[in-house]
Amino acid sequence: MDRERLTIVIAAFNEADSLPTLHPRVVAALDALARDGIDGQLLYVDDGSRDATWPIMRQLAAADRRIALLRLSRNFGKELALTAGLDRVDDGAALILDADGQDPPELIPQFVAKWREGYDDVHGTRIEREGEGWLKRATAHTFYRVIGALSKTPIPADTGDFRLLSPRALHALRQLRERHRFMKGLFGWVGYNRIAIPYHREPRVAGRSKFNFWRLWNLALEGITSFSTAPLRLATYLGLLTALVAFLYGVAIIVKALLWGDPVAGWPTMMSVILFLGGVQLIALGVIGEYLGRLYDEAKQRPLYLVDSWEPARPAQPAQAGEGDRVHRLRGSAVD
Ligand code: UDP
Ligand code: MG
Repeated sequence: MDRERLTIVIAAFNEADSLPTLHPRVVAALDALARDGIDGQLLYVDDGSRDATWPIMRQLAAADRRIALLRLSRNFGKELALTAGLDRVDDGAALILDADGQDPPELIPQFVAKWREGYDDVHGTRIEREGEGWLKRATAHTFYRVIGALSKTPIPADTGDFRLLSPRALHALRQLRERHRFMKGLFGWVGYNRIAIPYHREPRVAGRSKFNFWRLWNLALEGITSFSTAPLRLATYLGLLTALVAFLYGVAIIVKALLWGDPVAGWPTMMSVILFLGGVQLIALGVIGEYLGRLYDEAKQRPLYLVDSWEPARPAQPAQAGEGDRVHRLRGSAVD
């Protein structure tokens, strides 16, 4: 019978400081999998790093046949880097891990145990967020509540990308080719049997988070616009409400003019009404614009990412041909 296969996918952007610390822990996890009868592989995706990440990855891969490397043509962002990685997992399950050690590889056996119990989407849920300030924690908390309330797709709170996908869940995910990718939502959309594993999220082993507040804000917008049209509806209701108030106010003015005549007055009221309505209209236009812009990006049908170089893992029994054959450089080849 075929051995079960699991590929650990790690997207890294400028992680030269963390990789050497994380790598031995992941290799230990691979060894543990092997003892458990699972054919474990490791896929590093270099998301256009500008530091020594790529040379380090190549060094690591040279020492271990189970390691595959994928390098994107530039920095595409974590969501696309993960997509690129998952697209290269052709059989078996996949497990996503951060390159900074925040998701402990030591938990992998627990994830695998759940997979063997028949779960398709085993995801880590943070009990604690060490090394993250209160502001990040508070905004993250609010974000999960807001998107939970707005979106019809179940998106579990405090759940990152640390998760194992069974072959069928992975196959389903790979069919979702939208350009604006909010992975947490896409995982939720897939469904199947899901289970959470609570864990303590450790601080980064080295380096700094790539997600500053501006990127997080954009990620939040991405999440909400990709998985909910509630803001559009909100604009409708806001418009209706304003119209209703304006109508009542109009009636009041007419009645007042009929009863007490119409002396010229009301410049302040006029100004405030005009400015208020202008503001409401601009907000509604902005909301429509957010959706329209995304529609425009989807309509362009560009590939999701470009691959600079792909070095697959070497099979257990290497063919007679030499080591050098494993490097297939696909300069400039497009993959979507
Ligand atoms: N990452 C990536 N591309 C990017 C930004 C981040 O592949 O453009 C990777 C990064 O190397 C790490 C993971 O995504 O492995 C999570 O990033 P980070 O730790 O900066 O985010 P945080 O944990 O603070 O949310
Ligand atoms: Mg991190």
